[in-house]
Amino acid sequence: MKKIDIKKADQEKIVGTYARYDLVADSGKGAVCVDEKGKEYIDFTAGIGVNSLGFCDEGWVKAVTKQLKKLQHVSNLFYTEPQARVAELLTARTGLSKVFFSNSGAEANEVAIKAARKYSNNKYGNDINWITTLENSFHGRTMAAITATGQESYHKDFYPFLGNFSYCKPNDLEDLQKNVTDKTCAIMLEIIQGEGGVVNLKKEFLQEVEELCRRKDMVFIVDEVQTGIGRTGTLFAYEQFGIKPDIVTFAKGIGGGLPIGGALFGEKVCDVLGPGNHGTTYGGNPVACAGALEVLTRMDEAFLKEVAEKGEYMKKKLLSMPSVVSVSGMGLMIGVEIEGKEAKAVVAAALENGLMSLTAKDKIRLLPPLTITYEEIDKGLKILEDVLK
Ligand SMILES: *Cc1c(COP(=O)(O)O)cnc(C)c1O
Repeated sequence: MKKIDIKKADQEKIVGTYARYDLVADSGKGAVCVDEKGKEYIDFTAGIGVNSLGFCDEGWVKAVTKQLKKLQHVSNLFYTEPQARVAELLTARTGLSKVFFSNSGAEANEVAIKAARKYSNNKYGNDINWITTLENSFHGRTMAAITATGQESYHKDFYPFLGNFSYCKPNDLEDLQKNVTDKTCAIMLEIIQGEGGVVNLKKEFLQEVEELCRRKDMVFIVDEVQTGIGRTGTLFAYEQFGIKPDIVTFAKGIGGGLPIGGALFGEKVCDVLGPGNHGTTYGGNPVACAGALEVLTRMDEAFLKEVAEKGEYMKKKLLSMPSVVSVSGMGLMIGVEIEGKEAKAVVAAALENGLMSLTAKDKIRLLPPLTITYEEIDKGLKILEDVLK
């Protein structure tokens, strides 16, 4: 193939929805990414929390290629083994009843919203259909998902939206009471607001939401698209708060790099959707499911414990660095509040010095692959520290 100017072609021929960093990624192994010129970078992004096992993990590549050589797709008109196996694993490990497979996080939230409205519709008629989400949340980019997203910056230019959404201040019990009325059918939230700046929700708040949902027979939806699949040191972050949502959505980390997401449904809502109510051509694709199967199988108790330990290790080191004011998040989902410097500028400078990292609002956000080694962590943190000095 003829050589092309990648950046030029991208800038001229691809719709400019992404403000890309100046790096053309070419290959990767574990927590190291290599650019087109052969320069190496420590990866504290995991493709925004997607590459749970890092770049091109051996077991994952083997599982995916094995499936790829056998059957790549048949559509959801037929049964396939990988999809059935992922569903078995996810339900067994969460105690939730059934799963719907999508291809992304936004689509996972889309089906959650539809199921919540239909649950209420079936039981109470058309009138009770309001959904409360949180200010500063992020639920994706489809029209329903941005409606759920409680940030005006994502809304402007795209009106009108779905009706009957209300937005409650995170961790504000009084505002929760004001938002939830007799017309509300569901409450939807992230356990840690990822794009919103790695903002942890409080246990009291989460437990009150659950209690309210039980009392008023509303559907409790937890969006674990970023926090789920081992990222916070448990399979799902909600497990650490003594709560049991009715619907849990997931995506990013589950496929290990392949596009797959979904919603897990508890007993209350697992039979709300039936034939013809919802669907997607690619959902639960066998190759993506083979990747998910490898990710879930590898994520045993010892693996998850290590994620939590690595997270604590990183937080401790970060807190001792210059300009660092505080750290937030859980496990290997970490927000770093800094003073005297712009997070965006720090991330750009770190990239130049060989570290890939992210921002979330005014914070630096770190989402390394869950398999990152302590040596790689130290190397990455050293680069960040030098930039912060
Ligand atoms: C990334 C994200 C989404 C959207 O996922 P896509 O796969 O980009 O559609 C939804 N919710 C949360 C919490 C996310 O972090």
